[in-house]
Amino acid sequence: MNHHSFIGLETVSSDVALRLPLSFRKLSESKASPVEGQILHFNPIYQGYINLHQSYRPISKMFTDAPRVVATSNVTEKVATTSSQYKMLSLAENSHKPFRLFSACFITQGHTRSLISDPQREAIYFVPVILGEILTKNQGLSFTQLVEKYGEANRSHLVEYFEFLLERQLIFFLEDDWEQSAFPALDLSAYESAPVIEHLILDIGQDTNYDPRIVLEQLKELGVFHVEIRYYTSVSLDKLSYLEALKDTMVKSVEVLLPYQTDYTPEFIKAQKLREKYPWLLQITFFDAPEAQEVKEQHLLLSYTPQTVSSAQHCGKIGYWAFANDLPMITLNQSHNSCLYKTMGIDENGFIKNCPSMQENFGHINNTSLTEAVAKPGFRKHWNTHKAQIEVCKICEFRDICSDCRAYTQNDDPYGKPLKCGYDPYVGEWITNTQLIEQTNLTITQ
Ligand code: SF4
Ligand code: SF4
Repeated sequence: MNHHSFIGLETVSSDVALRLPLSFRKLSESKASPVEGQILHFNPIYQGYINLHQSYRPISKMFTDAPRVVATSNVTEKVATTSSQYKMLSLAENSHKPFRLFSACFITQGHTRSLISDPQREAIYFVPVILGEILTKNQGLSFTQLVEKYGEANRSHLVEYFEFLLERQLIFFLEDDWEQSAFPALDLSAYESAPVIEHLILDIGQDTNYDPRIVLEQLKELGVFHVEIRYYTSVSLDKLSYLEALKDTMVKSVEVLLPYQTDYTPEFIKAQKLREKYPWLLQITFFDAPEAQEVKEQHLLLSYTPQTVSSAQHCGKIGYWAFANDLPMITLNQSHNSCLYKTMGIDENGFIKNCPSMQENFGHINNTSLTEAVAKPGFRKHWNTHKAQIEVCKICEFRDICSDCRAYTQNDDPYGKPLKCGYDPYVGEWITNTQLIEQTNLTITQ
């Protein structure tokens, strides 16, 4: 679904059993800083394992907070799959060789714990902060050198860490000097994609008086990949005929969100053969549905949720569902805003904005073209606000895989934590919706 082009990223094998070097560029020197006299404690928190099956830039998922992530403690099964095909490297036989984290794996240091994300295998692992530090600052050293550095008293902890990493094929050992420079880290500093706008959001409500076709007919010029259409009032599926205007555009996916009606059963929707009419249509989400369910039919996902959605104010919720454990998201988060970069929204009243929930507009769709709007000063104001600049997020272990929201922020601070994020990285815990409402005075409809 997501085929952005990148500078500095090379193809990753989709065969999860293989770990191949990703590129052959000069290795940048890593500087190790010693941690003296510190006892390393094994922290069982890292046993947590989460499978993330997310597509890139999950903006639509921030509207309804139905979790689509399977939280599992199924580490044993995952390990069994990999180790049955590959012999686990022995620490005893390799303890004198420099170790290296695989280029396809990334460490994000957090306040209470750190995260190793392995997008190639769709996995993330929580690890103690000290293990994240060891991996970040000491690559190029051998296990024996690490024991010298951290002290004999920490040997058993280091053995435990290495066995954990080897078992999950997160690290490997370098055989000779040539290999020192043959497996450099991926360069995540540049995210590049061809479209002027990648993601377009159209909001349609009771008072909407613009024609969506006028918007869609302009998408070719901007190269838009993803379109999200959000209806806040009942609509007949026949009205979606304007989607025909996407023929011969670059659009790869369309998601539609609309209120449930009693006849919108999966059987009825299937009978409409929408995928045949609009091959770009990937998902329809029905809110106000009697019960939550998901049905997939010929690549069209029908998602039903009992939640109520009545306006753009429902957007911006951040939970596990706002994570995307993939290279585009991880790269984007280093220097750009993971929600607003190359995003454009048309609000219910036809005003062109960076996202429909924002106050500032850059013209009306009836008298301004999308190309004119994106060229206006200020349109790109939030595009480069990235996680390392955002309060609280900058110490959060999820910051590389998390989406962002600048429309609703703590204290309305342009660099404040997203207001509707339910995670507190200072204690490493998710707070409940009730606590979130108390802390933020938000109204969150279930
Ligand atoms: S900035 Fe916030 S409100 Fe706007 S689209 Fe992104 S998540 Fe939604
Ligand atoms: S604190 Fe920031 S990075 Fe962490 S989960 Fe919340 S929004 Fe995402």
